[in-house]
Amino acid sequence: MSEHKLLHCAFCKKPQHVVSKLVVGPDLNICDQCVAACNDILAQEGNKQSTEGDTPPISAALSKEKRASLPKPKEIFSYLSDYIIGQDLPKKVVSVAVYNHFKRIWFETTDYPDTDLQKSNILLIGSTGTGKTLFAQTLAKLLDVPFAIADATTITESGYVGEDVESTLHRLLQVAKGDLQKAQMGIVYIDEIDKISRKSENASITRDVSGEGVQQALLKMLEGTKVNIPKKGGRKNPQGEFITMDTSNILFICGGAFHGMESIIQSRLNKNKIGFISDHNREKVEETNSFQHVQQEDLLRFGIIPELIGRLPVVSALHDLDEDALVQILLEPKNALTKQFKKLMAMDDVILEFDKEAITTIAKVACLRKVGARALRSIVEDVMLDYMFESPESKTKKIVVTKQDIMAYVDQKLPKELKLKLTEKTSSPENKTQKSKAA
Ligand code: ADP
Repeated sequence: MSEHKLLHCAFCKKPQHVVSKLVVGPDLNICDQCVAACNDILAQEGNKQSTEGDTPPISAALSKEKRASLPKPKEIFSYLSDYIIGQDLPKKVVSVAVYNHFKRIWFETTDYPDTDLQKSNILLIGSTGTGKTLFAQTLAKLLDVPFAIADATTITESGYVGEDVESTLHRLLQVAKGDLQKAQMGIVYIDEIDKISRKSENASITRDVSGEGVQQALLKMLEGTKVNIPKKGGRKNPQGEFITMDTSNILFICGGAFHGMESIIQSRLNKNKIGFISDHNREKVEETNSFQHVQQEDLLRFGIIPELIGRLPVVSALHDLDEDALVQILLEPKNALTKQFKKLMAMDDVILEFDKEAITTIAKVACLRKVGARALRSIVEDVMLDYMFESPESKTKKIVVTKQDIMAYVDQKLPKELKLKLTEKTSSPENKTQKSKAA
């Protein structure tokens, strides 16, 4: 008589017929319930490792194909150019810094263990609306990494009211949908870094202390540290669960307008050249865009602590945007404003066009508002409001935005002094000769 051997799970000893599935191995078997229990144990173990900050080396987690797909500086530059008008030098500087940053992450730990490559966090200096945030956003899109924006002025030393360093990192983790490894390779843009400077190089205590404290808090995050972030976000709660995030491979891009630093740069440039340059040439130094000559000592004099300057080795200055650049911004980037509005109208089967004069007038008005390209959107939104309100139910299938539309906006919305400036601009000698030629 052939004896049927009853199969059991080697772990829980349950026989085959009482479990839904039994995986049969050469020497022992395991049931579906025990497989599930093992999975839970492994998952818990994984969590424990990450809370202890013992994450596996990042380069091991990335496939060879991913490394090969790392975009080269020229490719990064060209991608940035699809979205960002002008700013060629910052684009070049950022492209190289980002390429090096990702080389550092992807190759260092396993391939070149002896050489310590330092992180290339980036400092972008430029007036408001020149594209600092856009740089960081576009990079994150290209590299397909999580991206979070923080405002340096709301970051406080832990324990005070406001946002702290942990909340910024928590946001990054949220964007990465909880994937710690991914978040640890993300990009954080810290805006208004200039607003947390000490008042001046020699300034004493009181108000300056707060700025310095926040700079110290930021410093840790920038140089690479392990930060415990509450899993559920919000403020630290001793009872809550933590996840440990390592910031050493996060790329930090800091931005600021650094108002007032122009004079620091100019006085340094002029002092250095005393005795060698004529008054005429000195004037030239003042006329040029002084941020282009920025050096670390200027940042120090502005009130950024030396340690923080040391952690922002890549510094680049963005140009102010002139009228021509604003015209290009309206028309050329992949997601240019005019393209966006055309798309919105096309969804209602309406063709939208902006005539040339309308575009140049928008650029002129935006230039006067002194908030860079930021002004463009509010002007176009305002001008388009009535059209967008009417068009879904209107029979008109084509709209052409003209200079008159923009002038109507100017009449209603622009303060008197800006209106005057605009009239001066549009009736400049250059324009007058053009007009008389036309006549
Ligand atoms: P910043 O951070 O320097 O204050 P942003 O990057 O937020 O300025 O720019 C505001 C808006 O202006 C962006 O959404 C973008 O559409 C537009 N913009 C600014 N600079 C440029 C540029 N150089 N090229 C294209 N668009 C720009």
